Amino acid sequence: MVTREVYRLAFWRSHKIKLLILAFFSQALILQAATLTKIRIHENPEATRVVLDLSGKVTYKYFRLTEPYRAVFDLKGVSASANLVMPVAESSSKLLKLVRSGKRDNDLRIVLETKQKTKVRSFSLQPIPPHTDRIVIDLYPDKPPKKIVVKERKKILRRDVVVAIDAGHGGEDPGALGPRGIQEKQVVLQISKKLRAEIEKKKGFKGLLVRKGDYYMAHRKRTEFARENGADLFVSIHADAFTSSKVSGASIYTLSGGGAESEMGRFLANRANESDLFSGAGTISIKGRADDVAKTIVDMIMDGKTLFSVKAGNSVLSRLQRATKLHKKQVEQAGFLVLKTSDIPSILVETGFISNPKEARRLSQKDHQVRLSRAIASGIWDFFYENPPPGTLVASVSNEVTYQVQRGDTLSGIGQEFGVSSEAIKERNALRTSKIKIGQTLIIPRRISS
Ligand SMILES: [Zn+2]
Repeated sequence: MVTREVYRLAFWRSHKIKLLILAFFSQALILQAATLTKIRIHENPEATRVVLDLSGKVTYKYFRLTEPYRAVFDLKGVSASANLVMPVAESSSKLLKLVRSGKRDNDLRIVLETKQKTKVRSFSLQPIPPHTDRIVIDLYPDKPPKKIVVKERKKILRRDVVVAIDAGHGGEDPGALGPRGIQEKQVVLQISKKLRAEIEKKKGFKGLLVRKGDYYMAHRKRTEFARENGADLFVSIHADAFTSSKVSGASIYTLSGGGAESEMGRFLANRANESDLFSGAGTISIKGRADDVAKTIVDMIMDGKTLFSVKAGNSVLSRLQRATKLHKKQVEQAGFLVLKTSDIPSILVETGFISNPKEARRLSQKDHQVRLSRAIASGIWDFFYENPPPGTLVASVSNEVTYQVQRGDTLSGIGQEFGVSSEAIKERNALRTSKIKIGQTLIIPRRISS
């Protein structure tokens, strides 16, 4: 959690005199529908988010003032009996200096004083347990927009394969909710952190966490981060919910290429896409510009990207089936927005159904999280050993060789000769047993150890 400061406003615990004044406004009080219960301040890498927790739906007006820079919000018909002045600690926010509130007739005025000129974006959120109605205010430093510069890959020959690991949801968006307060956003961040550690256990691989803490990121920002960091693969980690608590198992999705989507795929994609509403961009980012841009990108790179996404998905799936129950035995396709906005080979892993009480419990257990992470990492290694991006360390050492079986050969003997295990050869050639025939051609995988 990055919630560093929680201000509880004890509006009703003030002087008698103020209560008298309130009594004077009692007629207005009857009309007052909502109270402000809490102000929360979250810091994320891009913005300072101020969340006003309210007991009901509230309309508001917003304007800005300078010298000093202030963002002013008038909340219609919200009650308060005390004026409040709250300095904000340096550790809580780089931008925010002071939060003030004051009563104005029937309204409550909230003033956010900032240390510098800021961009302000605000929106209302409907109640989603455990939250009530909220007004969310994002403060961004007002500086020229950062140009997207794709970091030039280091000119050295043996760069690492970069895997961007995207833990779904975060912050105001808890994702799917399971029994006993289990939240998807927490479970998937835990799994993502473990996955990153697993991936980096092999030489030549680097894992990057897209979301590092409990804050919200729009889909576009997530894929932008991956692109800026030169990712070779984008892996989005989720744990979803379905209307029936009986459904369980993991599945893997790639972007739909216009082909048939399963009903479950469509259901889950809709759920995941809804979460962009939490960025405040609302329907614009889903139905408007973002989708057009996404379509263009998808059209342009469909062939290569889709092929690699499906290949990567298959590699991960075949490892995952040894670690957990599968919901679907093949890679599914669906219109997940986070996959649409990416021009990097991308897969989405549903690690299980948090709506299934048994699976929810397993998903929140460390052992199971490690097991899942190992399986996903192995699948990713498999994929890159077979499809190494040019210029990587993996490409320089993973060239496979073919070998024709001679009289007297055994699988373990061949393995010894090439320095790989007989298991690895069996796996690479999809052999069920250790029996080999003279003249048979085997692909010998050559993998970097450690
Ligand atoms: Zn999700």
